[in-house]
Amino acid sequence: MTTIVWFRQDLRLSDHPAFSAALDNAAEHDQCIIPVYILDEGPAQLGEAARWWLHHSLSVLAEDLATRGSRLILRRGNPETEIVAMLQATGATSVYWNRRFDPTGIHQDQVIKTQLKAGGIDAQSFPGNYLHEPWRVLNRKAESFRVFTPYWKALITAGIDVPPLPPLPNALPPVPPSLASTRLEALGLLPEIPWDRAFPEHWKPGEHGARECLAAFLPKIESYAEGRNALDGQGVSRLSPHLRFGEITPRQISAALFARYPHPLEVPGVEHFLRELGWREFGASLLYHDPQSGTEPLNPRFAAFPWRDAPNDLRAWQRGETGIPVVDAAMRALWATGWMHNRARMIVASFLTKNLLIDWRHGAAWFMDTLVDADLASNTAGWQWTAGTGADAAPFFRIFNPILQAEKFDPQGDFIRQWLPELARADTKTLFAPWQASDDALNKAGIRLGDTYPEPIVDLAASRRRALDAFAQIKGGAAYERPQ
Ligand SMILES: Cc1cc2nc3c(=O)[nH]c(=O)nc-3n(C[C@H](O)[C@H](O)[C@H](O)COP(=O)(O)OP(=O)(O)OC[C@H]3O[C@@H](n4cnc5c(N)ncnc54)[C@H](O)[C@@H]3O)c2cc1C
Repeated sequence: MTTIVWFRQDLRLSDHPAFSAALDNAAEHDQCIIPVYILDEGPAQLGEAARWWLHHSLSVLAEDLATRGSRLILRRGNPETEIVAMLQATGATSVYWNRRFDPTGIHQDQVIKTQLKAGGIDAQSFPGNYLHEPWRVLNRKAESFRVFTPYWKALITAGIDVPPLPPLPNALPPVPPSLASTRLEALGLLPEIPWDRAFPEHWKPGEHGARECLAAFLPKIESYAEGRNALDGQGVSRLSPHLRFGEITPRQISAALFARYPHPLEVPGVEHFLRELGWREFGASLLYHDPQSGTEPLNPRFAAFPWRDAPNDLRAWQRGETGIPVVDAAMRALWATGWMHNRARMIVASFLTKNLLIDWRHGAAWFMDTLVDADLASNTAGWQWTAGTGADAAPFFRIFNPILQAEKFDPQGDFIRQWLPELARADTKTLFAPWQASDDALNKAGIRLGDTYPEPIVDLAASRRRALDAFAQIKGGAAYERPQ
């Protein structure tokens, strides 16, 4: 009698419903548990930065299992084939996993569950990585929400309080030694060219790293509402990659908040932080109920939008060479660390989709490849919101002015100086808009535009007008309608 626990986006041992259910089986019937991760090289592949994270997170999970007498089995290939092979090799009778909500994952899970059940296997899935599953938070007509505020109210009504979480045993049943596992290094998750050199300075993947990250953030949480927009990132938690890989759950985070504050929703910074976790839930709900939104604009008017085909501009944006300092600093930070601050994400997304008039899907794809927290649901929601193509989106005509954004959210210019050392000696006015600076100011700062730092690739005012003209072309089109 053996249970396979299939780990996917839940690389932790605590608050893991599928693992807990397997532990219950093991205790009751003296069963074995086989923890498995299968690297699926199918259509929904992970981006390069997320693969780096996955490598290290798997390494921590394997170690945590090994110290408890278990063993993480690693495989690469089609999950269905691998699971069937493991069932045959071990005689396991149960396969458990926590649910995921991206369209490809849902489809794969449905196929596998049906096949396993048809073969007499006890195949069960559990809720795991969200406060509520997407079909639980609905409006009075039992429809999904398209607007965040009522969604958030309904989520609060459904409850964010959490029951006490079961403790994890120190000893786990052993895995049959004959069961083969691929070596972690053989999964090929790490890059061949070492562009990830700086990542370890910024991150500690794995369940322990996630807990440390939360513990470091909690003392600052009461000033989250004011501090969260500062581009230096000091006011935010940086929990996103840990949440993405399920090294910590929103339930565990909520439990920590409820333990610290009897009424967290009445403490402004804490309430605001919980609301941001609500955006994560909302993104998952949008993608679940509109699975095509990962690739299609939620607002169908935008199907006819005259996006520009401008590969050179796209490349300049990706490389942080647009000549607009706050955009370039954010894009270079992304490349170096695999992460970008939320406000910076909005600034660079607005610049790409509006000033450069490049389709949001190009930006979303670059983010999916370069973010350690790359998550289809949150990324799609973030891009569609900023591009104005979503259901509950910033209107298209709201175009961020990158100079004003920098003045407001990086007032001393520290963030820009950190990532653009070639501008570090400039005074703040020059730093935010070097093309507007006098020759004298540029000389003093050692900046030669077009040589040490690029001239802007677009004129901000003219490109803003161009975006508004493009929007006027589709304004009369069909408005958003609920897909059938
Ligand atoms: C264009 C764009 C693309 C994005 N792509 C992703 C992505 O691929 N993966 C991802 O996790 N987030 C994405 N976000 C959302 C947000 O930027 C990040 O979650 C946040 O910056 C992560 O930093 P943090 O953990 O310090 O957040 P905090 O401010 O500390 O927030 C705590 C947690 O709440 C959640 N959260 C916060 N803000 C948002 C938000 N706007 N939408 C959804 N969840 C949120 C995250 O899980 C985050 O870890 C995107 C936003 C935009 C505008």
